[in-house]
Amino acid sequence: MQKIRVRAHAKINLYLDVVGKREDGYHDLETIFHSIGLHDDVIIRKQDTKEITVHCEHPAVPSDVSNLGYRAAARLSDAVGGIGGMSIEIQKRIPVAAGLAGGSANAAAVLHGVNELFGLGFTQEKLMRLGAQLGADIPFCLLGGAALGTGIGDLLTRLPVLSDLSLLLVNPGIEISTSAVFKKLNFSLTNRENVGIIIRTHMEKGDVLGIGGGLYNLLEIPVFAEYPEIAALKTELSTQAGCYGALMSGSGATLFAIMHNSESARLSESHFKNRVSFCTTTVTSPVGVYIQD
Ligand code: ATP
Repeated sequence: MQKIRVRAHAKINLYLDVVGKREDGYHDLETIFHSIGLHDDVIIRKQDTKEITVHCEHPAVPSDVSNLGYRAAARLSDAVGGIGGMSIEIQKRIPVAAGLAGGSANAAAVLHGVNELFGLGFTQEKLMRLGAQLGADIPFCLLGGAALGTGIGDLLTRLPVLSDLSLLLVNPGIEISTSAVFKKLNFSLTNRENVGIIIRTHMEKGDVLGIGGGLYNLLEIPVFAEYPEIAALKTELSTQAGCYGALMSGSGATLFAIMHNSESARLSESHFKNRVSFCTTTVTSPVGVYIQD
């Protein structure tokens, strides 16, 4: 096998609370992740030279050693004492710096794809441990489906996958730095009622209305305070016909809505399409990374 093509799926957070600040500067979270159908394609080709090269046409994605896909390949290569050269091509569809874990999904796809292409034989658990050293969302992107994340989001417990739930994603085109959002966080505002447990129960029962009503993301508070236009967009999204609930994903700025069905999702998509920088319908996905060929 000379090349492999891997789908790198984006994620949303159905729930996100910050439960503490750690000495290393990171925050302890309690979050519920779900993979979604929106994905990048990552194509890895063996190369005769010893180099790892990255190519991505998206102007905001680096093609150097700072690319998370590059870092994932280099980390695997180090772990086995060198594996030879490869080129990594990233076909980007996931908006960048948008709370959808696009970079982490690319890294997860590289870990999974390189492991297969070069027959390294690492288990999923081992890949997840290596991934956690590069970014907190990478273990979930490898696991895929639905999971509760604790610690910095890297300690995962599987949850029941919500199959084919219709979603609408709306991104206002504001790039938000995750670390800046955490710096503005006011801890007295953290959610003490443990809505997370409630939404988990709804997921276990497959109660979509309950999930829609229980969506929660603490990070909306600092983000909406700085960008009232994102808050206004969320209100508009929430009041669309067929919307069961809307939320900002991760540290934003992408908003998602859980919709009654694909038709109501498409109708609302046409409402937003020409006014925002990115808008698409999608569904929940049972996988995070997937080898296509
Ligand atoms: P998260 O939800 O995990 O916080 P995000 O979706 O908000 O992530 P990314 O799309 O992962 O953000 O991009 C964050 C930054 O990482 C970008 O500004 C970009 O410069 C850098 N980056 C490095 N590698 C990649 C990659 N493969 N794809 C996208 N961005 C990358």
